[in-house]
Amino acid sequence: MTLTISVLASGSSGNSIYISDSKTSILIDAGLSGKELERRLDKVSVKADEIDAILVTHEHKDHIKGVGILSRRYNIPIFANQLTWDAASDDLGQLDENNCNVFSGEFMIGGIGIKPFAISHDAGDPVGYVVFSGHKKIGIATDTGFITTEIRENLKNLNFLVIESNHDLEMLMNGNYPHFLKKRIRGEKGHLSNDDTAALLPELINSNRPGILLAHLSKDNNIPKLAYITVKNNLEKMGFKVGEDLKLDYTYRHKPTKIYNI
Ligand SMILES: [Zn+2]
Ligand SMILES: [Zn+2]
Repeated sequence: MTLTISVLASGSSGNSIYISDSKTSILIDAGLSGKELERRLDKVSVKADEIDAILVTHEHKDHIKGVGILSRRYNIPIFANQLTWDAASDDLGQLDENNCNVFSGEFMIGGIGIKPFAISHDAGDPVGYVVFSGHKKIGIATDTGFITTEIRENLKNLNFLVIESNHDLEMLMNGNYPHFLKKRIRGEKGHLSNDDTAALLPELINSNRPGILLAHLSKDNNIPKLAYITVKNNLEKMGFKVGEDLKLDYTYRHKPTKIYNI
């Protein structure tokens, strides 16, 4: 079974990831306006009414802005854990009860398996996801301040990984953000730096030759090419050949990535 994925938007201005096994299609987060989500889906030739479920990682606005809107407009079921529901429900607006699903462990949507796992972020009960179909596995991990053992274990043996590479530490520290915000971003419940991600990736690469997309890049404290080079340099230092042992690319704030077939 082939899984297809496109990251429709990534960063603090909005996040959404489209994944499909051709029969079932899901969005992970929908943190843009309804109109903009429709526009991004259209760019990858998907109609919003083809979406079978929206999975929520956590209640921050950049992940849920359009969740309620799409659910109402296209009668799409939403999946989140209880604490995320508790924290998000005011922002999601009035929903059809039948579309409100609470998960507490692994679950299926059509033929697509979903395994949530805890991440370390300043939200109610934030999660990453492993999405699988047959032997194909995609991992999603953004919005985490550090890499816990649980995250590390869940990101092994993947065919494709969307991983946060939020900021360059020097740019963050020398930038204009107020002290409390710098501290929050750097903190254990904040966001991963380029160096954090560069240090993690070598242990996740095996004969699967995974595709890796750097995500949730900061507009103010990062440059896509810098994130890419930081990660690439460390991988090469560890003996991996980018393009052969793995594929590496990054996501965008203002447009979808291409569709990757896994
Ligand atoms: Zn976010
Ligand atoms: Zn967040």
